[in-house]
Parts: sequence; C-alpha cells; structure tokens
Amino acid sequence: MKTLLVILDGLGDRPIKELGGKTPLEAANKPNLNQLAAEGICGLLNSVDIGVRPGSDTSHLALFGYDPSVYYTGRGPIEAAGVGIELKQGDIALRVNLGTVDKKLIIKDRRAGRISSVKPFEEDLNKIKINRVQTIFRAGTEHRGALVLRGPNLSSAISDPDPHEVGLKVKKITPLEKGKAAENTARVLEEFVAKAHAILESHPHNKERVKANLLPANYLLARGAGVVPHIPPFPEKYGLKVACIAGGGLYKGIGRLLGMDVLPVEGATGGANTDLNAKFNAVKKALEDYDFIFMHIKGTDALSEDGDLRGKVHFIEKVDAAIPIVTSVKNLLLVLTADHSTPVCLKTHSADPTPILMHGEGVRVDDVKEFGERPCAKGGLGRIKGAHLMPEIMNILGKSKLYGA
Ligand code: ZN
Repeated sequence: MKTLLVILDGLGDRPIKELGGKTPLEAANKPNLNQLAAEGICGLLNSVDIGVRPGSDTSHLALFGYDPSVYYTGRGPIEAAGVGIELKQGDIALRVNLGTVDKKLIIKDRRAGRISSVKPFEEDLNKIKINRVQTIFRAGTEHRGALVLRGPNLSSAISDPDPHEVGLKVKKITPLEKGKAAENTARVLEEFVAKAHAILESHPHNKERVKANLLPANYLLARGAGVVPHIPPFPEKYGLKVACIAGGGLYKGIGRLLGMDVLPVEGATGGANTDLNAKFNAVKKALEDYDFIFMHIKGTDALSEDGDLRGKVHFIEKVDAAIPIVTSVKNLLLVLTADHSTPVCLKTHSADPTPILMHGEGVRVDDVKEFGERPCAKGGLGRIKGAHLMPEIMNILGKSKLYGA
C-alpha cells in the first residue's frame, strides 16, 4: 500500500457571515472530497498541540513526527535546504534578503525594489574568503537567498543585522550569549556582510540597475540564524521511500532536511496560480516509484492571508476537481489535512484545529459524509495531534512496531 499525504496549507477556517455561517471548506462545491470523507475516516487535527498557533515550519516537522521543540532551530536551515544547499550538521544557516541601503547604511528598500532574482550576484558573493570559515550563498526566489557558515567554533546565538524596517540603519551584529563561538560568529558574519556590501556596490548588475532607474541590491540583510541539527532521515525512521512535491521553497526545504527526494514539477508555483493538474499528475507518476508522497499545496493559505474569501472557496473547488487524478490509483492510503488553520477573517495562522480525512483499505469508516470543519468534528479519528499522524498511517500500512509482547 502506498501513501499520499496532501497538506492544504492553512485550509481550516471559521464560520463566515457572507457564506451563511459556513466555513470556506464547508461552502465549497466539493463532491470528490465529500466522497472521500464518506468512504474514509475523518477527524480534527492540531499539528503541534491544542491551543498552539503554529508556523508552517514547526507544524510540518510535527506532522512528520519530528518534535519541533527538538528539531526546530530556526528558519535559516530550512530556507537554506530549500534553495538547494547541501547542509552538514553544525552549519549555521541564515535567511537573506538583498536590500538597498544609502551611503549611511540606512535601509531604503528591504527587497531592492522587488528585484526579480539575486542569481547574478551569487558567483561573486561566493568568492568571499574568511579565515577558517567556509561561506556558501545561494539565491532563492526574487530578493531572497540563504547563507551558510561552516567551520569550527560557530554559534547561532547572534543578533540580526536586519532592523526589519525601512529608514533605519543596519545593525551591528552582536553575540547573544557569552563564549568564543557566538563572538566568533558575529565577527565572521559582520566581515562577510561588509565584504558583500563592497562587492554589491561595484557590481556590474547593480550599475545596470541604477542606470535603468532601479534600486541596487547592495546590502545583505540576514536573519533567522539556526544551527543545522542532526535529523534522522524520514526513510530510515519509517522504512519508506519518500518524495516531496511542493512549489514553495520552505516546503521543499523541509522535504530536503528530512531526507526526501524533492521532485520538480513545471507549473508548481507555491501560490494560488499553481498548476494543480500538473502537480497531481506528478504525484500519480511518483507513486509508481515511491512508498510515500508528501504533497504540499500553498494556495489555500496564500488566499487566506490575502483575506480573499471567494478565492479560497474557488481554490478548494479546483483542488476537488483535480483530486480524481490520484483517487483512481489502486492500493492507496490518501490522507488529506492542513498544517494549521488560516481563517480568512484573521489573515494569519490560528490555533483552530484542521479537518483531516484518511481514505484507503483498512481504515475504520465512520459516519461523516462531508469534508468540513464541523462534519469532521464528529469523525472516528476524534481530535488528534500532529505527533499521532505518522503512527496512525504506519498502523494502517501494517508497519507499526508492537509495543510490548
Ligand atoms: Zn502553513
């Protein structure tokens, strides 16, 4: 039996007056999801814990059975894995923006005029040499990138040079704890940022931008330093060959950090304009080679954060229309849930539990006939936590280890 875990990011929501008191999921026309719910088992899920409002990073770690209080060391390592840097345990990884500063190092724009890519700077930034520490810079999407510091005597306990606000001067990087490692790391990053600034100021690509009346990407704003932890790879932890199909860098990063094969899909954007058919077709194909597929869909969360109620309803309907591509696969355990709720009225994550359904041979079918927040509250799974999800899946797959004798 193969497993497909579909995460509809931020799917869960609250009752909305304009929808006659229904949630976007309840209001959506979704015959296929309803059929899966009717033929499967449903419930509610809190990825991290009841009452906890999780980020997308911590919630995904929890869903895969990795306690975020142990394995989450900041956003840096996940972003760095997401842009394709091969990480080693002990590396210090940071998220990076390329922004614009004036001569006095006052921030004029944190995204360098929404520059389309910082790839043109990648090669030159990787020529920077710092005594005893290897530095790796990789461009991400638009103004984003990631930076890794590798070497002895490093710590993630350093302050951000990014003041997070336009009109303020960039900050000096300082150690946040006593000891040589934090002091050394603050000095190394300070030196890297200064050298990067000099390179970026005189970079031909920036000279072209200035000539074209665009803001130069002349300063590296780093934040979210985290040490790369030792993470037992998913394939070893569960004995399953696993692939990740996602558009967003964060989710590819989580996949890579956990030792999943991240499969590229043309048209997967990590937004509401993603090509759902292309993604589900890629999943169907990957199920021929893999035991377990993690599929991430971001549109539900992106539209919620925009407060786009109709957009969210419509996007759920598009997912419903595309899902028959995979439901025809024989011997499939299909699990569909969210990493957290993102109510449209809040435009941000909430601690409300998310609906979950499991469909496949062996699940104890309950009386729920419709996939929605309230119907699922009456489901046979009850209310579970993210930490229960993989054990529930392993049980259905017949791969649970016997506890006791
Ligand atoms: Zn999320």
